[in-house]
Amino acid sequence: MRITVFNNSGEKSITTAGVLTKKLEQAGFVLDDKHPDVVVTVGGDGTLLSAFHRYADSLSHVRFIGVHTGHLGFYTDWRDFELDDLVDALKQDSGQSVSYPLLDVSLTYDDSTTAHFLALNEATLKRMNGTMRTDVYIKQNFFESFRGDGLCVSTPTGSTAYSKSIGGAVMHPRLDALQVTEIASINNRVFRTLSAPVIIAPDEWVTFRPASGQDFVMTVDQFSTTTPPIVEMKFRIASERIHFARYRHMHFWDRVEDAFIGVKK
Ligand code: NAP
Repeated sequence: MRITVFNNSGEKSITTAGVLTKKLEQAGFVLDDKHPDVVVTVGGDGTLLSAFHRYADSLSHVRFIGVHTGHLGFYTDWRDFELDDLVDALKQDSGQSVSYPLLDVSLTYDDSTTAHFLALNEATLKRMNGTMRTDVYIKQNFFESFRGDGLCVSTPTGSTAYSKSIGGAVMHPRLDALQVTEIASINNRVFRTLSAPVIIAPDEWVTFRPASGQDFVMTVDQFSTTTPPIVEMKFRIASERIHFARYRHMHFWDRVEDAFIGVKK
């Protein structure tokens, strides 16, 4: 098994990654950051996001494992004081994994060029210097004319990240679905949106067709860019999925409770 350790630049993560790398070498694993079978991230959920984008071309044969150097995260099952247990689990690996949906984003700009992105958490389209105006379609059907700051489309595992902060529902990661959440929509006698998050089915897709002449800020996970005018932005569940090496199970709702509520009876 070829393994790579991918860490963030925090002092604790650098130290932990160094210790883990030594333990893996002593256990006889091959360390290979070009063609790994397993990517162990050391840091937080954000570090796992970065590793996902670094290895996005290899998703069909890479499994991820997250070690958190702070609190337990949503993509991180291991803590930094459990490295010996993690190495033992890797030694006994039989290929067990769990996989979750990803978001496929395709863009057409008004000069007819196109772009394509994969997101693990979410993609957003926003306007910073004026109201964003876009028509929203679900499948081929017109759904609403949106006016406001922007819209977010998230995966089930991304539902506990930005989407939750703007009023989205927390979705169980086993669901094959996408969630569209509004960012500060304008609702009055003239303009009307649903004003509630929408969760779409696996065989559905969402399209934004923005009014012409607007510039946008688009985010895909931790990346942010200003875009030239967009004719169409389409979101669907990707054919690719992210695979995690899963050696032990933590109940999803326990994780949610621990991360966001944390008041023990
Ligand atoms: P960051 O601004 O450094 O960190 C954002 C926070 O989001 C971190 O605490 C991170 O956890 C947490 N996070 C990331 N993915 C998560 C998930 N699936 N569920 C629950 N929490 C999650 O940015 P970053 O680390 O590069 O991560 C980019 C992500 O941050 C974006 O995809 C977006 O979802 C999120 N974000 C959220 C807000 C907001 O809630 N207002 C604003 C901007 C960005 P760790 O501490 O474990 O890394």
